[in-house]
Amino acid sequence: MSDDWDVVVVGGGGAGLAAATSAAERGASVLLFESETELGGSTQLSAGMFTAAGTSVQAALGVDDSAERFFQHYMDLNSWQLNPGLIAAFCEHSGPTLEWLIGLGVEIPAKVSGNAHTPGLCQAGVEDVWRGHVPKDQGYGVVQVLARAARTRGAEVVLNTRVERLIEQDGRVAGVVADGIEVRAGAVVVASGGFARDPDLLARYYPAALRAGEDLFVVAADGSRGDHLRFGEQVGAGVTGDGWGLLLPTAYFQRLHHWQSGFPPKSRIYVNGAGRRFMDEDASYAVSSGVIERQGGTAWAVFDERARLSLPAGYAHWDAGHVLAEAEAGRTLRAGSLEELAGKAGIPADALVATVRRWNEQLPSGHDPEFLRHRTLASKGATGHPDPIGEPPFYAARLLPAELVCTHAGLEIDARAAVRDERGEVIDGLFAAGEAGAGVLGQRYVGGGNAVANALTMGRLAGINAAA
Ligand SMILES: Cc1cc2nc3c(=O)[nH]c(=O)nc-3n(C[C@H](O)[C@H](O)[C@H](O)COP(=O)(O)OP(=O)(O)OC[C@H]3O[C@@H](n4cnc5c(N)ncnc54)[C@H](O)[C@@H]3O)c2cc1C
Repeated sequence: MSDDWDVVVVGGGGAGLAAATSAAERGASVLLFESETELGGSTQLSAGMFTAAGTSVQAALGVDDSAERFFQHYMDLNSWQLNPGLIAAFCEHSGPTLEWLIGLGVEIPAKVSGNAHTPGLCQAGVEDVWRGHVPKDQGYGVVQVLARAARTRGAEVVLNTRVERLIEQDGRVAGVVADGIEVRAGAVVVASGGFARDPDLLARYYPAALRAGEDLFVVAADGSRGDHLRFGEQVGAGVTGDGWGLLLPTAYFQRLHHWQSGFPPKSRIYVNGAGRRFMDEDASYAVSSGVIERQGGTAWAVFDERARLSLPAGYAHWDAGHVLAEAEAGRTLRAGSLEELAGKAGIPADALVATVRRWNEQLPSGHDPEFLRHRTLASKGATGHPDPIGEPPFYAARLLPAELVCTHAGLEIDARAAVRDERGEVIDGLFAAGEAGAGVLGQRYVGGGNAVANALTMGRLAGINAAA
Protein backbone atom coordinates (compact mmCIF):
# COMPACT_ATOMS: atom_id res chain seq x y z
CA MET A 1 0.00 0.00 0.00
CA SER A 2 1.48 3.35 -0.98
CA ASP A 3 1.35 6.29 1.42
CA ASP A 4 -0.14 8.67 -1.08
CA TRP A 5 -3.59 8.30 -2.53
CA ASP A 6 -5.67 10.47 -4.79
CA VAL A 7 -8.76 9.83 -2.68
CA VAL A 8 -9.31 8.42 0.80
CA VAL A 9 -12.87 7.43 1.66
CA VAL A 10 -13.98 7.20 5.29
CA GLY A 11 -16.73 4.60 5.65
CA GLY A 12 -17.83 1.67 3.53
CA GLY A 13 -21.62 2.01 3.49
CA GLY A 14 -23.62 3.14 0.47
CA ALA A 15 -22.14 6.63 0.20
CA GLY A 16 -18.55 5.50 0.70
CA LEU A 17 -18.77 2.62 -1.75
CA ALA A 18 -20.44 4.83 -4.37
CA ALA A 19 -17.69 7.43 -3.87
CA ALA A 20 -14.89 4.85 -4.05
CA THR A 21 -16.33 3.27 -7.20
CA SER A 22 -16.92 6.51 -9.07
CA ALA A 23 -13.51 7.93 -8.12
CA ALA A 24 -11.75 4.69 -9.15
CA GLU A 25 -13.76 4.68 -12.39
CA ARG A 26 -12.12 8.02 -13.21
CA GLY A 27 -8.68 6.59 -12.70
CA ALA A 28 -8.04 7.84 -9.17
CA SER A 29 -6.15 5.70 -6.70
CA VAL A 30 -8.62 5.09 -3.87
CA LEU A 31 -8.28 3.79 -0.33
CA LEU A 32 -11.42 3.15 1.71
CA PHE A 33 -11.44 2.65 5.48
CA GLU A 34 -14.30 0.85 7.18
CA SER A 35 -14.40 0.78 10.98
CA GLU A 36 -16.38 -2.47 11.25
CA THR A 37 -15.44 -6.00 10.27
CA GLU A 38 -17.59 -5.89 7.16
CA LEU A 39 -18.74 -3.33 4.62
CA GLY A 40 -22.30 -2.09 4.37
CA GLY A 41 -23.29 0.05 7.37
CA SER A 42 -26.96 1.01 7.54
CA THR A 43 -27.16 0.69 3.76
CA GLN A 44 -26.69 -3.04 4.06
CA LEU A 45 -29.52 -3.24 6.63
CA SER A 46 -31.90 -1.21 4.49
CA ALA A 47 -34.48 -2.22 1.94
CA GLY A 48 -32.25 -0.41 -0.53
CA MET A 49 -35.26 1.52 -1.73
CA PHE A 50 -34.09 4.42 -3.87
CA THR A 51 -36.18 7.46 -4.81
CA ALA A 52 -35.27 8.73 -8.27
CA ALA A 53 -36.93 10.62 -11.12
CA GLY A 54 -36.92 10.07 -14.87
CA THR A 55 -35.60 6.50 -14.77
CA SER A 56 -35.82 3.67 -17.28
CA VAL A 57 -37.86 1.68 -14.73
CA GLN A 58 -40.45 4.45 -14.49
CA ALA A 59 -40.52 4.86 -18.28
CA ALA A 60 -41.11 1.13 -18.80
CA LEU A 61 -44.11 1.36 -16.48
CA GLY A 62 -45.46 4.49 -18.16
CA VAL A 63 -44.70 6.81 -15.22
CA ASP A 64 -44.10 10.31 -16.53
CA ASP A 65 -41.52 12.02 -14.31
CA SER A 66 -38.65 14.47 -14.43
CA ALA A 67 -35.95 15.98 -12.25
CA GLU A 68 -37.79 19.33 -12.35
CA ARG A 69 -40.98 17.76 -11.03
CA PHE A 70 -39.05 15.91 -8.32
CA PHE A 71 -37.30 19.16 -7.35
CA GLN A 72 -40.56 21.10 -6.98
CA HIS A 73 -42.11 18.35 -4.87
CA TYR A 74 -38.97 17.99 -2.73
CA MET A 75 -38.69 21.70 -2.01
CA ASP A 76 -42.41 22.13 -1.32
CA LEU A 77 -42.52 19.21 1.13
CA ASN A 78 -39.56 20.72 2.94
CA SER A 79 -41.16 24.19 3.00
CA TRP A 80 -38.21 25.48 0.93
CA GLN A 81 -35.97 25.25 3.98
CA LEU A 82 -33.27 23.46 1.97
CA ASN A 83 -30.67 24.90 -0.36
CA PRO A 84 -32.28 24.86 -3.85
CA GLY A 85 -28.96 24.49 -5.69
CA LEU A 86 -28.08 21.37 -3.73
CA ILE A 87 -31.55 19.86 -4.08
CA ALA A 88 -31.61 20.56 -7.82
CA ALA A 89 -28.30 18.69 -8.19
CA PHE A 90 -29.59 15.79 -6.11
CA CYS A 91 -32.81 15.55 -8.13
CA GLU A 92 -30.93 15.81 -11.46
CA HIS A 93 -28.41 13.14 -10.51
CA SER A 94 -30.73 10.67 -8.76
CA GLY A 95 -31.98 9.17 -12.04
CA PRO A 96 -28.52 8.89 -13.69
CA THR A 97 -27.16 7.38 -10.44
CA LEU A 98 -29.87 4.73 -10.51
CA GLU A 99 -29.01 3.95 -14.15
CA TRP A 100 -25.33 3.76 -13.17
CA LEU A 101 -26.20 1.23 -10.46
CA ILE A 102 -28.24 -0.81 -12.92
CA GLY A 103 -25.24 -0.72 -15.26
CA LEU A 104 -23.04 -2.05 -12.45
CA GLY A 105 -25.39 -4.96 -11.88
CA VAL A 106 -28.13 -3.82 -9.47
CA GLU A 107 -31.38 -5.42 -10.61
CA ILE A 108 -34.61 -3.41 -10.43
CA PRO A 109 -37.34 -5.09 -12.46
CA ALA A 110 -39.83 -2.90 -14.33
CA LYS A 111 -42.85 -4.09 -12.42
CA VAL A 112 -45.16 -2.65 -9.79
CA SER A 113 -44.18 -3.42 -6.21
CA GLY A 114 -46.59 -3.08 -3.29
CA ASN A 115 -43.93 -2.73 -0.60
CA ALA A 116 -40.28 -2.19 0.26
CA HIS A 117 -39.53 -5.90 0.09
CA THR A 118 -40.69 -6.70 -3.42
CA PRO A 119 -38.31 -5.65 -6.21
CA GLY A 120 -39.83 -3.12 -8.61
CA LEU A 121 -41.33 0.36 -8.45
CA CYS A 122 -43.51 1.37 -5.52
CA GLN A 123 -44.99 4.32 -3.74
CA ALA A 124 -43.80 3.99 -0.17
CA GLY A 125 -43.62 7.60 0.83
CA VAL A 126 -45.50 10.75 0.07
CA GLU A 127 -44.23 11.09 -3.49
CA ASP A 128 -46.47 12.71 -6.10
CA VAL A 129 -45.60 10.01 -8.66
CA TRP A 130 -44.20 6.54 -8.07
CA ARG A 131 -40.46 6.94 -7.47
CA GLY A 132 -39.57 4.21 -4.95
CA HIS A 133 -37.19 1.82 -6.72
CA VAL A 134 -36.75 -1.45 -4.81
CA PRO A 135 -33.69 -3.48 -5.87
CA LYS A 136 -33.39 -7.25 -5.85
CA ASP A 137 -31.76 -8.39 -2.59
CA GLN A 138 -32.43 -4.97 -1.08
CA GLY A 139 -29.63 -2.93 0.56
CA TYR A 140 -27.49 -6.03 0.88
CA GLY A 141 -27.64 -6.56 -2.89
CA VAL A 142 -26.65 -2.94 -3.59
CA VAL A 143 -23.69 -3.16 -1.22
CA GLN A 144 -22.49 -6.40 -2.80
CA VAL A 145 -22.63 -4.91 -6.30
CA LEU A 146 -20.85 -1.70 -5.25
CA ALA A 147 -18.18 -3.51 -3.23
CA ARG A 148 -17.37 -5.69 -6.23
CA ALA A 149 -17.36 -2.70 -8.58
CA ALA A 150 -15.06 -0.69 -6.30
CA ARG A 151 -12.57 -3.53 -5.99
CA THR A 152 -12.54 -4.43 -9.68
CA ARG A 153 -11.83 -0.79 -10.49
CA GLY A 154 -8.79 -0.90 -8.24
CA ALA A 155 -10.04 0.66 -4.99
CA GLU A 156 -8.38 -0.80 -1.90
CA VAL A 157 -10.53 -1.54 1.13
CA VAL A 158 -9.27 -1.73 4.70
CA LEU A 159 -11.73 -3.20 7.21
CA ASN A 160 -11.78 -2.96 10.98
CA THR A 161 -10.02 0.39 10.95
CA ARG A 162 -11.69 3.49 12.34
CA VAL A 163 -10.43 6.79 11.01
CA GLU A 164 -9.56 8.97 14.01
CA ARG A 165 -9.08 12.39 12.51
CA LEU A 166 -8.36 14.45 9.42
CA ILE A 167 -4.94 15.84 8.49
CA GLU A 168 -4.84 19.53 7.58
CA GLN A 169 -1.98 21.07 5.69
CA ASP A 170 -1.58 24.45 4.00
CA GLY A 171 -5.25 25.29 4.51
CA ARG A 172 -6.64 22.10 3.00
CA VAL A 173 -7.51 18.60 4.08
CA ALA A 174 -4.63 16.38 3.05
CA GLY A 175 -5.40 12.96 4.50
CA VAL A 176 -6.50 11.05 7.58
CA VAL A 177 -5.10 9.34 10.64
CA ALA A 178 -6.20 5.75 11.24
CA ASP A 179 -4.71 3.35 13.78
CA GLY A 180 -2.27 6.13 14.61
CA ILE A 181 -0.89 6.11 11.06
CA GLU A 182 -0.99 9.16 8.80
CA VAL A 183 -2.34 8.47 5.33
CA ARG A 184 -1.92 11.32 2.84
CA ALA A 185 -4.47 11.96 0.10
CA GLY A 186 -5.37 14.55 -2.50
CA ALA A 187 -8.94 14.53 -1.24
CA VAL A 188 -10.93 12.92 1.56
CA VAL A 189 -14.56 11.83 1.32
CA VAL A 190 -16.28 11.54 4.70
CA ALA A 191 -19.01 8.91 4.38
CA SER A 192 -19.12 7.63 7.93
CA GLY A 193 -22.92 7.58 8.28
CA GLY A 194 -24.99 9.20 11.02
CA PHE A 195 -24.93 9.49 14.82
CA ALA A 196 -27.96 7.43 15.86
CA ARG A 197 -25.85 5.37 18.26
CA ASP A 198 -24.33 8.31 20.16
CA PRO A 199 -26.71 9.54 22.90
CA ASP A 200 -24.74 12.76 23.50
CA LEU A 201 -24.88 13.73 19.84
CA LEU A 202 -28.59 12.85 19.76
CA ALA A 203 -29.16 15.19 22.70
CA ARG A 204 -27.35 17.93 20.83
CA TYR A 205 -28.51 17.45 17.23
CA TYR A 206 -31.70 15.35 17.34
CA PRO A 207 -33.31 15.64 20.79
CA ALA A 208 -36.70 14.56 19.41
CA ALA A 209 -35.36 10.99 19.39
CA LEU A 210 -34.78 11.08 23.14
CA ARG A 211 -38.40 12.01 23.83
CA ALA A 212 -39.19 8.31 23.38
CA GLY A 213 -37.26 7.68 26.63
CA GLU A 214 -36.87 3.99 27.43
CA ASP A 215 -38.95 3.05 24.40
CA LEU A 216 -36.34 4.38 21.98
CA PHE A 217 -34.57 1.74 19.93
CA VAL A 218 -31.99 2.30 17.24
CA VAL A 219 -31.91 0.20 14.08
CA ALA A 220 -29.11 2.14 12.37
CA ALA A 221 -25.81 0.26 12.01
CA ASP A 222 -23.32 0.04 14.87
CA GLY A 223 -20.88 2.35 13.09
CA SER A 224 -23.35 5.28 13.32
CA ARG A 225 -21.31 7.04 15.98
CA GLY A 226 -21.21 10.54 14.55
CA ASP A 227 -17.51 10.68 13.67
CA HIS A 228 -18.35 13.07 10.82
CA LEU A 229 -19.36 15.71 13.37
CA ARG A 230 -16.04 15.28 15.20
CA PHE A 231 -14.09 15.61 11.94
CA GLY A 232 -16.17 18.67 11.09
CA GLU A 233 -15.41 20.32 14.41
CA GLN A 234 -11.72 19.73 13.80
CA VAL A 235 -11.71 21.71 10.53
CA GLY A 236 -14.45 24.27 11.24
CA ALA A 237 -17.00 22.74 8.87
CA GLY A 238 -20.53 24.10 8.78
CA VAL A 239 -23.22 21.82 10.22
CA THR A 240 -26.74 21.69 8.85
CA GLY A 241 -29.81 19.46 9.20
CA ASP A 242 -29.87 20.14 12.94
CA GLY A 243 -32.98 18.71 14.62
CA TRP A 244 -33.97 16.40 11.78
CA GLY A 245 -33.93 12.65 11.37
CA LEU A 246 -36.22 9.71 10.74
CA LEU A 247 -38.12 8.18 13.62
CA LEU A 248 -40.71 5.55 12.81
CA PRO A 249 -43.89 5.08 14.81
CA THR A 250 -44.02 1.83 16.75
CA ALA A 251 -46.00 0.12 19.47
CA TYR A 252 -44.13 0.51 22.77
CA PHE A 253 -43.27 -3.23 22.73
CA GLN A 254 -41.40 -3.19 19.42
CA ARG A 255 -37.67 -3.46 19.73
CA LEU A 256 -36.61 -4.44 16.20
CA HIS A 257 -37.16 -3.13 12.68
CA HIS A 258 -40.56 -4.27 11.40
CA TRP A 259 -38.99 -6.98 9.26
CA GLN A 260 -38.33 -8.78 12.52
CA SER A 261 -40.86 -7.15 14.85
CA GLY A 262 -43.75 -7.70 12.44
CA PHE A 263 -46.69 -5.54 11.46
CA PRO A 264 -49.77 -4.52 13.43
CA PRO A 265 -53.06 -6.12 12.31
CA LYS A 266 -54.77 -4.57 9.32
CA SER A 267 -58.05 -4.38 11.31
CA ARG A 268 -56.97 -1.71 13.76
CA ILE A 269 -57.52 1.97 14.33
CA TYR A 270 -55.33 4.60 15.94
CA VAL A 271 -57.07 6.91 18.40
CA ASN A 272 -55.87 9.93 20.36
CA GLY A 273 -56.58 11.14 23.89
CA ALA A 274 -60.00 12.35 22.76
CA GLY A 275 -60.91 8.84 21.64
CA ARG A 276 -60.94 9.91 17.97
CA ARG A 277 -59.14 8.56 14.93
CA PHE A 278 -56.64 11.15 13.74
CA MET A 279 -54.83 9.61 10.76
CA ASP A 280 -54.75 7.06 8.00
CA GLU A 281 -53.27 4.20 10.01
CA ASP A 282 -51.27 3.12 6.97
CA ALA A 283 -49.98 6.60 6.14
CA SER A 284 -46.39 6.70 4.97
CA TYR A 285 -43.66 6.57 7.59
CA ALA A 286 -42.48 9.77 5.96
CA VAL A 287 -45.24 11.65 7.77
CA SER A 288 -46.85 9.38 10.37
CA SER A 289 -44.47 10.15 13.25
CA GLY A 290 -45.15 13.85 12.86
CA VAL A 291 -48.90 13.24 12.91
CA ILE A 292 -48.63 11.11 16.06
CA GLU A 293 -46.45 13.71 17.77
CA ARG A 294 -49.19 16.29 17.21
CA GLN A 295 -51.53 14.23 19.43
CA GLY A 296 -49.83 15.48 22.57
CA GLY A 297 -48.20 12.20 23.48
CA THR A 298 -51.30 10.00 23.52
CA ALA A 299 -52.00 7.59 20.72
CA TRP A 300 -53.31 4.05 20.91
CA ALA A 301 -53.59 1.20 18.45
CA VAL A 302 -57.02 -0.32 19.15
CA PHE A 303 -57.97 -3.78 17.85
CA ASP A 304 -59.99 -6.79 18.87
CA GLU A 305 -59.47 -10.48 19.54
CA ARG A 306 -60.07 -11.49 15.93
CA ALA A 307 -57.33 -9.06 14.80
CA ARG A 308 -54.90 -10.39 17.42
CA LEU A 309 -55.51 -13.95 16.32
CA SER A 310 -55.04 -12.96 12.67
CA LEU A 311 -51.41 -11.94 13.26
CA PRO A 312 -49.12 -14.17 11.21
CA ALA A 313 -46.57 -16.28 13.09
CA GLY A 314 -42.87 -15.79 12.67
CA TYR A 315 -42.41 -12.25 13.99
CA ALA A 316 -40.89 -11.27 17.30
CA HIS A 317 -43.38 -8.72 18.58
CA TRP A 318 -46.54 -8.32 16.49
CA ASP A 319 -47.38 -11.94 17.16
CA ALA A 320 -50.60 -13.26 18.77
CA GLY A 321 -48.71 -14.88 21.65
CA HIS A 322 -46.51 -11.87 22.32
CA VAL A 323 -49.46 -9.46 22.34
CA LEU A 324 -51.26 -11.79 24.74
CA ALA A 325 -48.24 -11.89 27.03
CA GLU A 326 -48.07 -8.07 27.01
CA ALA A 327 -51.77 -7.94 27.93
CA GLU A 328 -51.28 -10.51 30.72
CA ALA A 329 -48.45 -8.35 32.04
CA GLY A 330 -50.80 -5.35 32.02
CA ARG A 331 -48.66 -3.36 29.61
CA THR A 332 -51.01 -3.68 26.64
CA LEU A 333 -54.51 -2.69 27.80
CA ARG A 334 -57.23 -5.35 27.51
CA ALA A 335 -60.93 -5.19 28.36
CA GLY A 336 -64.20 -7.00 27.74
CA SER A 337 -65.90 -3.86 26.39
CA LEU A 338 -64.87 -0.70 24.60
CA GLU A 339 -66.17 1.38 27.51
CA GLU A 340 -63.91 -0.48 29.93
CA LEU A 341 -60.95 -0.20 27.51
CA ALA A 342 -61.51 3.56 27.28
CA GLY A 343 -61.55 3.78 31.08
CA LYS A 344 -58.19 1.99 31.30
CA ALA A 345 -56.71 4.24 28.61
CA GLY A 346 -58.10 7.39 30.22
CA ILE A 347 -60.02 8.45 27.14
CA PRO A 348 -63.73 9.35 26.84
CA ALA A 349 -65.74 6.13 26.52
CA ASP A 350 -68.56 7.63 24.43
CA ALA A 351 -66.03 8.99 21.92
CA LEU A 352 -64.24 5.65 21.57
CA VAL A 353 -67.52 3.80 21.13
CA ALA A 354 -68.64 6.30 18.47
CA THR A 355 -65.25 6.11 16.72
CA VAL A 356 -65.38 2.33 16.53
CA ARG A 357 -69.00 2.41 15.33
CA ARG A 358 -68.09 4.81 12.51
CA TRP A 359 -65.09 2.70 11.59
CA ASN A 360 -67.20 -0.46 11.48
CA GLU A 361 -69.63 1.25 9.10
CA GLN A 362 -66.87 2.60 6.87
CA LEU A 363 -63.62 0.84 5.95
CA PRO A 364 -64.83 -2.73 6.56
CA SER A 365 -67.30 -1.89 3.76
CA GLY A 366 -64.47 -0.55 1.62
CA HIS A 367 -64.44 3.22 2.13
CA ASP A 368 -62.75 5.57 4.61
CA PRO A 369 -64.17 9.01 3.74
CA GLU A 370 -62.28 10.88 6.46
CA PHE A 371 -58.74 9.53 6.15
CA LEU A 372 -58.82 7.83 2.73
CA ARG A 373 -57.09 4.75 4.06
CA HIS A 374 -58.69 2.64 1.33
CA ARG A 375 -56.43 4.47 -1.15
CA THR A 376 -53.27 3.68 0.80
CA LEU A 377 -54.24 0.04 1.18
CA ALA A 378 -54.89 -0.16 -2.57
CA SER A 379 -51.46 1.32 -3.41
CA LYS A 380 -49.91 -1.32 -1.14
CA GLY A 381 -51.69 -3.98 -3.16
CA ALA A 382 -53.85 -5.04 -0.19
CA THR A 383 -56.74 -7.29 -1.05
CA GLY A 384 -59.91 -7.59 1.03
CA HIS A 385 -61.25 -4.99 3.45
CA PRO A 386 -60.27 -4.84 7.12
CA ASP A 387 -62.72 -6.51 9.52
CA PRO A 388 -64.97 -4.57 11.89
CA ILE A 389 -63.75 -4.19 15.46
CA GLY A 390 -66.32 -6.06 17.52
CA GLU A 391 -65.00 -9.27 19.00
CA PRO A 392 -63.96 -8.97 22.66
CA PRO A 393 -61.62 -8.75 24.37
CA PHE A 394 -60.48 -5.42 22.99
CA TYR A 395 -56.87 -4.25 23.13
CA ALA A 396 -55.08 -0.90 23.19
CA ALA A 397 -51.32 -0.68 22.69
CA ARG A 398 -49.51 2.63 23.18
CA LEU A 399 -47.99 4.09 20.00
CA LEU A 400 -45.12 6.52 19.70
CA PRO A 401 -42.26 7.52 17.36
CA ALA A 402 -39.47 5.40 18.86
CA GLU A 403 -37.61 3.52 16.12
CA LEU A 404 -34.60 5.58 15.11
CA VAL A 405 -33.56 4.88 11.52
CA CYS A 406 -31.28 7.71 10.50
CA THR A 407 -30.08 11.19 11.43
CA HIS A 408 -29.84 14.22 9.16
CA ALA A 409 -27.42 16.63 10.86
CA GLY A 410 -24.01 16.59 9.25
CA LEU A 411 -21.35 18.48 7.38
CA GLU A 412 -22.80 21.13 5.11
CA ILE A 413 -22.16 20.24 1.47
CA ASP A 414 -22.70 22.01 -1.82
CA ALA A 415 -23.96 20.64 -5.13
CA ARG A 416 -20.55 18.99 -5.74
CA ALA A 417 -20.65 17.32 -2.31
CA ALA A 418 -17.76 19.60 -1.25
CA VAL A 419 -17.83 20.52 2.45
CA ARG A 420 -18.28 24.17 3.37
CA ASP A 421 -16.89 25.90 6.40
CA GLU A 422 -18.89 28.01 8.85
CA ARG A 423 -18.55 31.02 6.51
CA GLY A 424 -19.94 29.06 3.56
CA GLU A 425 -16.52 28.72 1.87
CA VAL A 426 -15.49 25.37 0.44
CA ILE A 427 -12.89 23.49 2.51
CA ASP A 428 -10.35 22.35 -0.05
CA GLY A 429 -9.81 18.64 -0.24
CA LEU A 430 -12.89 17.68 1.80
CA PHE A 431 -16.08 16.06 0.52
CA ALA A 432 -18.93 14.39 2.40
CA ALA A 433 -21.96 12.30 1.48
CA GLY A 434 -24.74 10.14 2.90
CA GLU A 435 -25.86 10.89 6.42
CA ALA A 436 -22.44 12.45 7.05
CA GLY A 437 -22.91 15.06 4.29
CA ALA A 438 -25.94 17.14 5.16
CA GLY A 439 -28.38 19.33 3.31
CA VAL A 440 -30.30 16.86 1.18
CA LEU A 441 -32.15 15.00 3.94
CA GLY A 442 -34.49 17.59 5.38
CA GLN A 443 -37.34 18.02 7.77
CA ARG A 444 -39.59 15.82 5.65
CA TYR A 445 -38.56 12.38 4.48
CA VAL A 446 -39.42 12.64 0.79
CA GLY A 447 -40.66 9.41 -0.65
CA GLY A 448 -39.65 5.90 0.21
CA GLY A 449 -35.95 5.71 -0.51
CA ASN A 450 -34.89 9.27 0.30
CA ALA A 451 -31.87 8.29 2.42
CA VAL A 452 -30.44 5.57 0.19
CA ALA A 453 -30.86 7.87 -2.81
CA ASN A 454 -29.04 10.61 -0.92
CA ALA A 455 -26.20 8.27 0.07
CA LEU A 456 -25.65 6.83 -3.39
CA THR A 457 -26.29 9.96 -5.45
CA MET A 458 -24.21 12.32 -3.35
CA GLY A 459 -21.61 9.58 -2.75
CA ARG A 460 -21.18 9.15 -6.48
CA LEU A 461 -20.89 12.93 -6.96
CA ALA A 462 -18.38 13.15 -4.10
CA GLY A 463 -16.25 10.45 -5.77
CA ILE A 464 -16.39 12.14 -9.18
CA ASN A 465 -15.42 15.54 -7.77
CA ALA A 466 -12.81 14.21 -5.35
CA ALA A 467 -11.13 12.38 -8.24
CA ALA A 468 -11.12 15.58 -10.26
C1 LIG B 1 -33.13 -1.05 8.99
C2 LIG B 1 -32.99 0.13 8.06
C3 LIG B 1 -33.77 0.20 6.91
C4 LIG B 1 -33.65 1.29 6.05
N1 LIG B 1 -34.33 1.29 4.86
C5 LIG B 1 -34.13 2.30 3.99
C6 LIG B 1 -34.64 2.25 2.67
O1 LIG B 1 -35.18 1.24 2.22
N2 LIG B 1 -34.48 3.33 1.86
C7 LIG B 1 -33.83 4.45 2.28
O2 LIG B 1 -33.74 5.41 1.55
N3 LIG B 1 -33.25 4.50 3.51
C8 LIG B 1 -33.36 3.45 4.34
N4 LIG B 1 -32.71 3.47 5.54
C9 LIG B 1 -31.75 4.58 5.80
C10 LIG B 1 -30.52 4.41 4.91
O3 LIG B 1 -30.20 3.04 4.82
C11 LIG B 1 -29.31 5.19 5.42
O4 LIG B 1 -29.62 6.52 5.71
C12 LIG B 1 -28.20 5.19 4.36
O5 LIG B 1 -28.02 3.92 3.82
C13 LIG B 1 -26.92 5.72 4.99
O6 LIG B 1 -25.84 5.51 4.10
P1 LIG B 1 -24.39 6.05 4.53
O7 LIG B 1 -23.44 5.55 3.53
O8 LIG B 1 -24.46 7.49 4.82
O9 LIG B 1 -24.12 5.35 5.94
P2 LIG B 1 -23.85 3.82 6.27
O10 LIG B 1 -24.45 2.93 5.26
O11 LIG B 1 -24.25 3.61 7.69
O12 LIG B 1 -22.29 3.69 6.12
C14 LIG B 1 -21.39 4.38 6.97
C15 LIG B 1 -20.21 3.46 7.22
O13 LIG B 1 -19.14 4.21 7.81
C16 LIG B 1 -18.53 3.38 8.80
N5 LIG B 1 -17.81 4.27 9.73
C17 LIG B 1 -18.32 5.07 10.69
N6 LIG B 1 -17.34 5.78 11.27
C18 LIG B 1 -16.18 5.43 10.67
C19 LIG B 1 -14.82 5.82 10.84
N7 LIG B 1 -14.45 6.74 11.73
N8 LIG B 1 -13.86 5.22 10.06
C20 LIG B 1 -14.21 4.27 9.14
N9 LIG B 1 -15.49 3.88 8.95
C21 LIG B 1 -16.46 4.46 9.69
C22 LIG B 1 -19.70 2.65 9.41
O14 LIG B 1 -19.30 1.48 10.10
C23 LIG B 1 -20.54 2.34 8.18
O15 LIG B 1 -20.21 1.09 7.60
C24 LIG B 1 -32.78 2.37 6.38
C25 LIG B 1 -31.99 2.29 7.53
C26 LIG B 1 -32.09 1.18 8.37
C27 LIG B 1 -31.20 1.12 9.58
